[in-house]
Amino acid sequence: MADYEKYLVDGYYPTIGIECHVQLKTKTKLFAAVDNDARDAAPNSLVSHICFGMPGALPVLNKEALQLAMKAAFALNSVPQPFSKFDRKHYFYPDLPLGYQISQFDEPIVLGGHMDITVDGEALRVGITRAHLEADAGKSTHPAGKDYSLVDLNRAGTPLLEIVSEPEMHSAAEARAYVQELYLAMKYADVSDVDLYHGNMRFDVNVSVSKDPAKLGTRSETKNLNSFKSVEKAVDYEIKRQITLLEDGGEVVQETRGWVDDEQKTISQRTKENAHDYRYFPDPDLPPVVLEEETIRIVEESMPKAPGYYRSSFAELKLDSSQVETLLYEPRVAQYLDEFKQDTSAELARNLANLFSGPVQKLVIDGECNWSAVLDADWEGLTSLLTENKISSTGAKEVIPDMVKELKSAEDIANEKNLMQVSDTGAIEAIVDEVLAANPKPADDVRQGEMKAIGFLVGQVMKASQGKANPQMAKEIITKKLGV
Ligand code: MN
Repeated sequence: MADYEKYLVDGYYPTIGIECHVQLKTKTKLFAAVDNDARDAAPNSLVSHICFGMPGALPVLNKEALQLAMKAAFALNSVPQPFSKFDRKHYFYPDLPLGYQISQFDEPIVLGGHMDITVDGEALRVGITRAHLEADAGKSTHPAGKDYSLVDLNRAGTPLLEIVSEPEMHSAAEARAYVQELYLAMKYADVSDVDLYHGNMRFDVNVSVSKDPAKLGTRSETKNLNSFKSVEKAVDYEIKRQITLLEDGGEVVQETRGWVDDEQKTISQRTKENAHDYRYFPDPDLPPVVLEEETIRIVEESMPKAPGYYRSSFAELKLDSSQVETLLYEPRVAQYLDEFKQDTSAELARNLANLFSGPVQKLVIDGECNWSAVLDADWEGLTSLLTENKISSTGAKEVIPDMVKELKSAEDIANEKNLMQVSDTGAIEAIVDEVLAANPKPADDVRQGEMKAIGFLVGQVMKASQGKANPQMAKEIITKKLGV
């Protein structure tokens, strides 16, 4: 089978490239000293002469945005370019008062890089073409039934990093895995709040299909997707739409499309302008960005650990890959677990990973507690009790809510709730003696070599101890006493 054949859909070979706009978590805008967080602000309250594009207003590059873009470069497995510059990208839009967007054209801050993804157990590398800094536009709204539109410039000038992938994905599942990995990379690098709901990361997917894997077909671009699921669905929809169109004798036109979530389909929005229509030229108001080697080195050294580091660290704990991904979703959880493993042991860390990705995760999702409170709790105490068989996993689940909410020691709560297992040999022996005396027939069966009866006897010991005997010890004592 030729390599591409696994991607064939009805004899067509799909190709996907993705552009992602990441909103950088700066305090102020890219070129103006105006608050960048417009989430709860009244329309047009976070604006200055620069956001309005007043004549003579001069932009000044926000150093923090540059710093975050440099960090993003390393997170994309690349390095910041020592020389980059800003260009004007011209288009007419009511929410773009300058008449152009300040972006980076031929000398972006990031060139090259890659994201490693895993799809159906298979490792793949998706190349990054480039990433550039640019200012966001404002927002237009069109009130229903009115003969006017509204413009809000709060978002105008917000710093974005546009990350462009190579057209190296070939299925909706790969596209989804790529955007998820990009999300994690930005989250761990701490360059964005990555709040998808508020559009902190917006994905544009370029999809084409071709019968000849060596030749790309005409592509459509579906813009402004803001969830992993919508990326997957839009890619899937476009692959099928284009194949159907071509099979019916039609032609795919190069155009911008939008995703209609209610109808789970893409619709045509406008035919794509070609690059030269933007009349790019260097912005004369902004000097080029020149980075010293030393500046780049300092950023590299300050980089937090990446998701890949934690994946390799957790491999030792022998968890399911879905468990690992659950733990990775919150960087501080991954970091906590990794440090916990170094301070204690892999055995305790494995117990903790099971608790975090199971019962604790459930408490957080149910809104019973948040991760900050969780990480202050006595996990070393609880995992020690589990590892030493002083508490059952069922018992541990009962300890967790109080342990997280009241920050008391695991052992104190287990004692209060009467959940400690009896691991005292003498105490268990006494119970075993009672059980054996009360159940002569099963005891005899075990003596005759009928080992099935042991389970029954252990069950009786558990019952007599109200579930608190350590079952493993009970079994050992029964076996010893019956001489088998
Ligand atoms: Mn852009």
